[in-house]
Amino acid sequence: MENTNKNYTIAIDGGAATGKSVLARGIAKKLNILYLDTGAMYRAAGLYFLDRGLEFNEKNINKHIDNIDVKLEYENGITKVYLNNVEVTDRIRTSKASMGASDVSKFLPVREKLLYLQREMAKGQNVVLEGRDVTTVVFPNATLKIFLTATPDIRAIRRQRDLAKRGEIKDAEIVKEELLRRDLQDTTRKESPLKKAEDAIEIDTTLLTNDDTVDMVIDLLKERVEINA
Ligand code: C5P
Repeated sequence: MENTNKNYTIAIDGGAATGKSVLARGIAKKLNILYLDTGAMYRAAGLYFLDRGLEFNEKNINKHIDNIDVKLEYENGITKVYLNNVEVTDRIRTSKASMGASDVSKFLPVREKLLYLQREMAKGQNVVLEGRDVTTVVFPNATLKIFLTATPDIRAIRRQRDLAKRGEIKDAEIVKEELLRRDLQDTTRKESPLKKAEDAIEIDTTLLTNDDTVDMVIDLLKERVEINA
């Protein structure tokens, strides 16, 4: 597999709540490298429209895209998310913000803008990033590409737990429906739909612990580059 520079890139794609962020965070911590949560950027962009009660349509996207500034700050295992210099780290994690992210992510101007920012942030360093198009569009030459899956039931339970921690109590069946609706929207959109890259390694996390998955991916990375871990 070709790598564009001497730094390495680990790219992880997969459906909603398949364990991408916990895996990426675990890898970043263990290897002491940058973690780029691309979903958080789409969530922040979606929040811009939700906060203003704006419909997600082409006219609104074109009118507002230049006013949207999204920044990520990653330090000591924690990602902080800023929308127009205001921290929105917690506000982007609600069910409403999840669907807003999926709604806004369909539009090409949004994808182009965030794609540029993602590549800029990753420039010149070792990075692990996760999302829906990071193996296919953002870094098609990534050193290692992973595609995560898990059963809808386990994904719903994990997401339900995450939401509960933030004070949003929801029935698992409803959470499951929302996850599947978002996956459908993300896999069937015209621009950069979620799909498994041909050379991505698929890992089903249903029965795996987070630590097992982190170790598995680091072992796969060691087959490709020399690292001290
Ligand atoms: O990964 P997360 O659940 O935070 O992503 C929120 C939404 O952002 C996804 O459902 C998807 O619509 C969008 N997204 C995307 N491309 C990415 C990352 C996320 O379209 N690289």
